[in-house]
Amino acid sequence: MKVLDTSASWIFLDTRDIAVESVVFLGANETTEVAAYEMSATDAVKGTALVIAVPENIKGEPEVKIRIQYETSPNASALQWLPPELTAGGKHPMMFSQSQSIHARSWIPLQDTPAVRVTYEAVIRTPAELLAVMSANNDPLTPRSGEYQFDMPQAIPSYLLAIAVGNLYFAPLGDDTGVYTEPELLDASVYEFADTQDMFDVAEEQFGPYRWGRYDLLVLPPSFPFGGMENPRLSFLTPSLLAGDRSLVSVVAHELAHSWSGNLVTNATWRDGWLNEGMTSYLESRLMEIIYDKDRVDEERVLSYQELLGNFETVPVERQGLAPRLDSGDADDVQGTIHYHKGQLFLQYLENGFGRERFDEFLLGYFDNYAFKTITTEVFVDYLDQELLSPNPGVITRQQVEVWMYQPGLPEDAPIPSSKTLDSAAELAAGWALGETSLEDVPADRWSPQALIHFINSLPADLAEEELQALDSELGLSETNNAEIARAWFILVATRRYAPAYAKMEEYLNRYGRARLLVPVFGALAANGQDAGLAKSMFAKARSTYHPITIGYIERVFERAEAGP
Ligand SMILES: [Zn+2]
Repeated sequence: MKVLDTSASWIFLDTRDIAVESVVFLGANETTEVAAYEMSATDAVKGTALVIAVPENIKGEPEVKIRIQYETSPNASALQWLPPELTAGGKHPMMFSQSQSIHARSWIPLQDTPAVRVTYEAVIRTPAELLAVMSANNDPLTPRSGEYQFDMPQAIPSYLLAIAVGNLYFAPLGDDTGVYTEPELLDASVYEFADTQDMFDVAEEQFGPYRWGRYDLLVLPPSFPFGGMENPRLSFLTPSLLAGDRSLVSVVAHELAHSWSGNLVTNATWRDGWLNEGMTSYLESRLMEIIYDKDRVDEERVLSYQELLGNFETVPVERQGLAPRLDSGDADDVQGTIHYHKGQLFLQYLENGFGRERFDEFLLGYFDNYAFKTITTEVFVDYLDQELLSPNPGVITRQQVEVWMYQPGLPEDAPIPSSKTLDSAAELAAGWALGETSLEDVPADRWSPQALIHFINSLPADLAEEELQALDSELGLSETNNAEIARAWFILVATRRYAPAYAKMEEYLNRYGRARLLVPVFGALAANGQDAGLAKSMFAKARSTYHPITIGYIERVFERAEAGP
């Protein structure tokens, strides 16, 4: 550790469910000095502080080296240990981490805040037939030996520390890109993510050099709690993206874009999360526009916008600003998707105001200026003011920017995304519900998944059981392989208590452990007035296959449903 305050007498490290065995300071010439330390009282959210006394003879040194011997718990909130039956191959166990937001402390004692960056080296020993990968220098040619060495020379925040071990194999996607997964998913992954190298090349052209070496993907078993996690050099992905038609690859564009926004320039606290997620959602849409086309991206923008409007109805107003003024709480507390979608709209608003060319210049300068640094919202606003607002007076004022940052909802002049295809999908939904059109007029097989999702989301709330049955049989909704279409459908099924589809819904709830796919369905079921008990029993049955983070989200959505509207 670098010593920033030479008068400091204590070092505080975050831990959770970690058993510390010893702490020693390492001096010059391999000398060691046993340290006095204690574990603080345990906090339900933050865990237990490891408080280490700095010995008198070390005080004043510019740097200290500490060796901590410790053991993690089987309950470590970052780690999921999967038995063979929960993997694609069914023969080998697997383990993977998810450190964001504050779970790194459950496998490494450290200062677990995005404000602090670290480099690392690691030696990982595994059963000889398994492969270990980390958010570090993975070499695709590494022989399977049961002992793997890693080096991560670029400083990263603790939430990007990542590891996975399993029966993993590699296939290249391009010169700089490739994918790791179990052999059973390798061909499907290579097909689904074939555009990754193009995305990589376009991203470098648009946003400046990729500063991390290789960019690989890791496709995990279904229990992975998120769509993707932007672990540097190695994005972790849910297999629910393997739709077979490349329709869900915006998640890859998103995780890749984090190599600039988030991993390179990092939010200093989780309250500033829009600097990571809003900026990344914006960059993602820019990449998708170039690789695919604007219509597809407009469809995704509309769906995001609809989701955002839904969030404004459930997220308390004091949490609706991009950078709400909070100084406590759980970093995992959902603020819905406000950081993502409102943040993306804000950056679109800046682009519309200043023009793409000038805004892109600003972005290049921003990534350069703050590379490998962590910043707060206020630092961003000052920089924006200095580089873009003040030099171009009469476009957007600082006060207008501050409304986005600190006020709930959306400003009146916020851009509103639109898509002709999605508009016509919404019209068809309304027309069908009124009996004006038939389902045969719905061109579902020519639509994008996004259009079908919008059609489902646009249906009125009071559909009769026969109507739901017609929808299901005509459009094959319960049978879809597209996880996002299924999500929209089963939210409707749970909300409307359409019992004939409950068996399929339960299969869906058992297929993936991705929180985005599960939480709203469990939430709708628990809140429909009749099925709270059923929701809990379905959850109890599936629970052992879910990641601890997903379990936490589902338990919270049950608590909210019980508390009532
Ligand atoms: Zn993200």
